Amino acid sequence: MTERIDGHTLLIGLMAYPIRHSMSPTMHNNAFAKLGLNFAYLAFEITNDTLPAAVQSIRTLDMRGSNISMPNKQKIIPLLDKLDPATEMIGAVNTVVNDHGVLTGYTTDGIGFMKSLDDEGLDIRGHKMTLAGAGGAGTAIAIQAALDGVKEMSIFNRHDEFWDNAKRNVDIINEKTDCKATLHDLADQDDYKAEIQSSFIYADATSVGMNPLQDQTLVTDPTWFNNPDQIVFDTVYAPRTTELMKVAEKAGVKHVFNGLGMMLEQGAAAFKLWTGKEMPVDYIREVLF
Ligand code: NAD
Repeated sequence: MTERIDGHTLLIGLMAYPIRHSMSPTMHNNAFAKLGLNFAYLAFEITNDTLPAAVQSIRTLDMRGSNISMPNKQKIIPLLDKLDPATEMIGAVNTVVNDHGVLTGYTTDGIGFMKSLDDEGLDIRGHKMTLAGAGGAGTAIAIQAALDGVKEMSIFNRHDEFWDNAKRNVDIINEKTDCKATLHDLADQDDYKAEIQSSFIYADATSVGMNPLQDQTLVTDPTWFNNPDQIVFDTVYAPRTTELMKVAEKAGVKHVFNGLGMMLEQGAAAFKLWTGKEMPVDYIREVLF
């Protein structure tokens, strides 16, 4: 690291709170070192209160950009100059790029989801997806998948504070993309099972399956997965094998994934926006895991 940093090094930040647990600094700094790029990535504890000054510092310090995470993903929008079109539809930002003082916001989670499937040689474009969840990850996945060409999407959520968001996601997809989206209540188990069984891919973007819900899964009955060629995708990556994945594997589903590939590819997409280079994803996977 010390060999790389000099008077020309460009800084990239991560602005969130809490953030000390993040793997992103290790991911990006190792990728910069591997490719010999003169960038450094640092995490900053930034709350909604300190966000305006932090965003201004991107301009003042001529930083190349920043990642943005909780609780700042929505609050940052009015502080930026531009949003890319998909990000405008998603309504949340996880990456900022500074082009000579002009700050543009992007969201790379949905791109990471789609790319991680491409990496496995699986193309969900033109097919039907059933998706559980309409929070940050669920929204990014739904909108990116619809923009990229998923033909039909059944979005499930429970009646909690994210229900209206699920409704909004369905409306915006139907209005602005060629995908036909429908809204469903997770409580209707017969409907849930039928939609999963008629889908090419089932993706879970809820908090179920990760700490403190790591012993739970929304689908407990392996007979719900009656097609071994189906894709079952859990966005959770800690634990590495979630309860949902165990149920799908028990059912004999061949394509069962956790969220590790998505996490790496969302980082790779941000890396490309800042540097113009492909992140060495296989190398980073070895470094991190
Ligand atoms: P969020 O808080 O924005 O959304 C949570 C979602 O889970 C909502 O749809 C909510 O209704 C649903 N939910 C919560 N508890 C539930 C329960 N008991 N039963 C049914 N639904 C429930 O969170 P987020 O940031 O969107 O994260 C959601 C998941 O996505 C997490 O598991 C997280 O690990 C994962 N994620 C993965 C990546 C990745 O790169 N792989 C990136 C971001 C998030």
